[in-house]
Amino acid sequence: MEPTIALLGPPGSGKGTQAARLRDEAGFVTLSTGELLRQARAAGTELGGRVAGYMDAGDLVPDDVIVHVVCDAVGELAGRPVLLDGFPRTVGQADALGGVLGGQGRELRAAVLVDVPDDVVVERIMGRHQGRADDNPETVRERLRVYHHETEPLVAYYEERGLLRRVDGAQEPDAVAADIQAALE
Ligand code: AMP
Repeated sequence: MEPTIALLGPPGSGKGTQAARLRDEAGFVTLSTGELLRQARAAGTELGGRVAGYMDAGDLVPDDVIVHVVCDAVGELAGRPVLLDGFPRTVGQADALGGVLGGQGRELRAAVLVDVPDDVVVERIMGRHQGRADDNPETVRERLRVYHHETEPLVAYYEERGLLRRVDGAQEPDAVAADIQAALE
């Protein structure tokens, strides 16, 4: 069975960078929910309109909306190793993921936590020049609050299931990438 991996971590943890490396260097198809939603907004779709307010406020879009998006996207990736970047982000999403993957004959092989302390997160995001609308001080604080409140419980969730792999995300990107590769072996 082709592996399915999830990347967890706070905003600014370098998940996106690491997802791109796993795509280029290890052949994963990466499914970045934040990127999918930004594309939907740019294209002016109905989905884009529904999620805009949540994203701009730094809040999560509702579970049912994002689970639907992931379900559709994963269905198109049969037979390929998949890396989920930015999903699941709540316990509800993690519970739903089992069903979504099971329907495709897949199962989650590992959840990799790219761990970075809050002060490093704030420093990094403020230095990021991608012009993302949600990269301003108030929104970053809200995204961090949401991360600790909604997403961090997944660390224990996946630990209990023996799927958690923890990587120090405060290192240089090359070292983080090497640690992720090692964690997946
Ligand atoms: P990201 O690029 O992963 O930081 O995602 C940007 C924004 O998209 C987040 O702040 C949320 O508003 C939304 N988003 C992305 N993934 C999810 C998810 N799994 N659940 C809920 N909202 C999400």
